[in-house]
Amino acid sequence: MGLETRTGTAAAERLYNVCDYYDAESLLTADERHVLGRLRNFLDQNARPLLADYWERGEFPSQLAQPLIDLDLMEPAELTGPGPRNIPARGIYHGFRIFELARTDASLATWYTAQAGLFRTAIRVGASAEQQAEWMPQVVDFSLKGVFSLTEPESGSDIAGGLSTTARRGSDGNWTLDGAKRWIGGASTADVLAVFARDVADGQVKAFLVDREAAGVTLEKIHRKTSLRMMQNAHITLNNVRVPESMRLHKVNSFKDVAAMLRAMRSDVAWIATGIQAGAFEAALRYVCERRQFGRSLGSFQLVQEKLARMLGNLTASLSLVVRLTEQQAAGVYRDQDSALAKMQSCLAMRETVALARELVGGNGITLDSDVARFHADAEAVYSYEGTHEINALIIGRALTGESAFAR
Ligand code: FAD
Repeated sequence: MGLETRTGTAAAERLYNVCDYYDAESLLTADERHVLGRLRNFLDQNARPLLADYWERGEFPSQLAQPLIDLDLMEPAELTGPGPRNIPARGIYHGFRIFELARTDASLATWYTAQAGLFRTAIRVGASAEQQAEWMPQVVDFSLKGVFSLTEPESGSDIAGGLSTTARRGSDGNWTLDGAKRWIGGASTADVLAVFARDVADGQVKAFLVDREAAGVTLEKIHRKTSLRMMQNAHITLNNVRVPESMRLHKVNSFKDVAAMLRAMRSDVAWIATGIQAGAFEAALRYVCERRQFGRSLGSFQLVQEKLARMLGNLTASLSLVVRLTEQQAAGVYRDQDSALAKMQSCLAMRETVALARELVGGNGITLDSDVARFHADAEAVYSYEGTHEINALIIGRALTGESAFAR
C-alpha cells in the first residue's frame, strides 16, 4: 500500500492499526475490509460483553450463533458476487476473518472454524462432485452444520496408524460404524458428524456423515476444561450405527486423503494463534498505558517496553508467516511441512506472547476482568489441537531429512 492510502480517511478505516505493524491488511481489498469491519462491530458490541461470564460458566453464548451466521462471513455475497457462489472469497480474506474472531476470543474462532474450516474442508476434499453440489451450499449457509470427528480416546497424535473405529459394509451396500471419538468440537449442536473409520474389508480409512441423532450415537460433554471453556467438546460413542452408502464421502479412500484435509486445516489454526496474540498484545498495551506505579505509567518503564517489543515481534513474525503461507496456498502450493511450520511457530510465539501479556497485567492478569487471562488460558488448547508442537516438528523434520522419526 502506498503512503497516500495510509493517510486521511483510508487510515481512519484501517482495522488493525497497532497490531498489524507491517501493514498486512493492505493486501485486503476495500470490500474485504468492509466485511471484516462488519464482523469487528458485531464482536465488539454483541460478543465482547458476554465473554468473561460465559467463559467462567463453561458455556457457549448460543445467542451469538445465529447472528454470526447471518453476517454471511464464509462466502460473503459482497465478495463472491450475486447468483450462484462460484467465485470463492480469497484465502487472505478467510485468514483475516479467523484472525479477527481469534483477536476477540479463541472459542468463537474455534467454533466458527469447526464449520468453515474443518467440516467444510472435509466436504471440499472428501465429497464427490455430486455430493459437493448438494452439500456445499448448505455448509456455507450453515443449514447443514457439521464437525470433524477424527481423534479417538486412545489415539491422538498417532491417529493415522491407531484409528480403531470400524466401518463394516453390509450386503445391502450400507455401513455399520463402531468405536469412539474424543474432543470433537461443536458436536452437540451439529446436524452431522464427519466420522473417520477403518474399513474392516481393506483396512483403509473412510469417512461418513453420521446423523448426530442416529440410533447408537451417544454424546457426552467433556467437563472441567481449563482452556477454551466456552467451546463445547464431546466424547462420542458409536455403537452399531447404520450409515447409508450415500453418506460416505466418496473421495476418502485412505489416510492420505485425511492428511490432505489436515494440511489445509493447520493453516487456519496458525491464523487463530496469530489472532490470539493480537488480542493479548492489545489488551496488555492498553493496560500498561493506563496503569500507574511509582508515579508513572507502566508503559514508561524500560523493562515493560522490552516485553511489549517482544510481543509485537512475535505477533508480526506470526502474521508475516501466515500471510505468506496463505499466498502460497492461493497459488496452489500445498505441502504438509509448510502448514506444520506455520502452526508450530505461531503457537510457540503465541505461548510466549500470552504469557508476557499476563505478566504485564500483574495480579489483574489472572482475573477474567482482564482479557489477557482468557487468552492466556485458551492458548493452551490451541497449542495442542490440530497437531501438537512435537508432531508438527516431526513433519518438518521428515521433509528436511527424508527420514521419518515417527515411531510407528
Ligand atoms: P497425545 O497424542 O497423547 O500426545 C501427548 C503428548 O505426547 C503431546 O505433547 C505430544 O506431542 C507427545 N507425543 C506424541 N507422540 C509423540 C512422538 N512420536 N514424539 C514426541 N512426542 C510425542 N480432534 C478432532 O478430531 N476434532 C476436533 O474437533 C478436535 N477438537 C479439539 C479441541 C480441543 C480443545 C482439543 C484439546 C483437542 C481437539 N481435538 C480434536 C484433538 C486434538 O487434535 C488432539 O488433542 C491432538 O492431536 C493431540 O492428541 P492427544 O491429545 O491424544 O495427545
